[in-house]
Amino acid sequence: MGANRQKSVDFRGRYIPEAAGAAVSGAEDPVGSRTHNLILRRRASLMQEPVLVLNATYEPINVTAVRRAMVLMLKGVAQAEELHNSEVHSASHAHRVPSVIRLLAYRHIPQQSRALSRKNILLRDRNTCQFCGDVFPSSELTLDHVVPRSRGGRSSWENLVACCYRCNNGKGDRTPEEAGLKLARRPRPFTLHTSRQLMRLIGHRDERWRKYLFY
Ligand SMILES: [Zn+2]
Repeated sequence: MGANRQKSVDFRGRYIPEAAGAAVSGAEDPVGSRTHNLILRRRASLMQEPVLVLNATYEPINVTAVRRAMVLMLKGVAQAEELHNSEVHSASHAHRVPSVIRLLAYRHIPQQSRALSRKNILLRDRNTCQFCGDVFPSSELTLDHVVPRSRGGRSSWENLVACCYRCNNGKGDRTPEEAGLKLARRPRPFTLHTSRQLMRLIGHRDERWRKYLFY
């Protein structure tokens, strides 16, 4: 249980918007009618909807999916603060789906806990090539060393950016200036500010998140 709690709250912004609404395989309904399939699919995508996670102090710390949020509630780790209009049904009950949950025990979240990783760089740069400004799926992006490694450029938050293959090939072993490219923005470490922005971005359609994220 300890391991699960750790996993669920130890990240900020791990929720990936492009994973939302991922199709459910037919395996759950091998003989189903079309309608039945549609209902299942809707339910599956509902379970992937983003849920804002607050610390015990109401500080927003994380975004998770409905499915995970409901597990935390069932375990007594978190409680719902805001509810969706939608319900999911178990054998005997209808459960309102949470939109915002709050951890019942305070968790200390270190300010700079985010690991330097490909995933986090793409998240920081919002899957946007920092040279041409186009948005790509993760599979079509690479990491570019702004100052090439051959010139002493380091693998750091400040020197790594999301980059499409075309721009990466065009840039080659040169600095952006030499290649006639301009960075969309200066790369920075992933901060609390970045994760707040991401949470707002993910929750922009859900008014129930606003009072916790101040927008
Ligand atoms: Zn590009």
